Amino acid sequence: MSGRNVLIMGGSRGIGAEAVRKFRAAGDNVVFTYHRSELAADDLRQETGAVPVRCDVKFSNSVRIAVEKAHSILGHIDVLICNAAIADFNLITDIDETRWEEIIDTNLNGVFYSIRNVLPLMIQRKSGAIITVSSMWGQVGASCEVAYSAAKAGVIGLTKALAKEVGPSGITVNCIAPGMIDTDMNANVDPAAAAEIAEETPLCRIGKPEEVASAMLFLASEDAGFITGQVLGVNGGLIV
Ligand code: NDP
Repeated sequence: MSGRNVLIMGGSRGIGAEAVRKFRAAGDNVVFTYHRSELAADDLRQETGAVPVRCDVKFSNSVRIAVEKAHSILGHIDVLICNAAIADFNLITDIDETRWEEIIDTNLNGVFYSIRNVLPLMIQRKSGAIITVSSMWGQVGASCEVAYSAAKAGVIGLTKALAKEVGPSGITVNCIAPGMIDTDMNANVDPAAAAEIAEETPLCRIGKPEEVASAMLFLASEDAGFITGQVLGVNGGLIV
């Protein structure tokens, strides 16, 4: 039992739900947030014993309240995982300001709000591990995913800068950049396009959510204690 206290933002489905399972299996105390998927969150609570808290990461006040709840449930927070995000497939000429703001608010500002609320608690204890979730498209950009790629590139910049800022406080900040992973996020991707990505991937397949969750578990572990400011690709070698 490692018994860390872990807050996972966006834990109701996909990669986040696998992270909830992995950290619970490792003996950690877990609070996770959900936004729309209340039933899935309740099922995961029953399955794992992790505690769900509702939160819309687009809104700083919603994040503040969720972090306060997590803090009161857990006592302190050792590990923060900023996983919540939405996908968007559009030509930039088809993205209006409202949609642009929704993507940036969810995928980038939500990371800022989460970290901004948790960090003072970690600084007080002079310890903590923060894991952000970007994407290979944040590293190299994707056509028809300009807003998503911009937000995810921002997450990488935030991670590197913050690692330098809070390293002296004993806090590590690392980023995971998944490749194509088999979750609901890709439910609308044309199967032919998905097959093409699998074919171009050196490991000849798309990834499983539990493979990303394993990387989260590692970056949160003592074994990763001298790793900070890094971007770990979990992409089957597609982006190297
Ligand atoms: P899913 O769509 O399966 O799950 C997304 C999660 O984010 C859900 O738990 C959802 O909660 C939560 N979420 C979405 N919007 C909000 C919001 N406004 N406030 C709070 N929570 C929200 O995505 P994945 O598991 O595939 O993705 C997880 C992470 O991995 C994301 O950061 C994604 O960008 C990244 N990633 C995924 C890739 C992939 O191929 N799947 C590739 C590269 C990166 P709810 O359902 O309760 O609303």
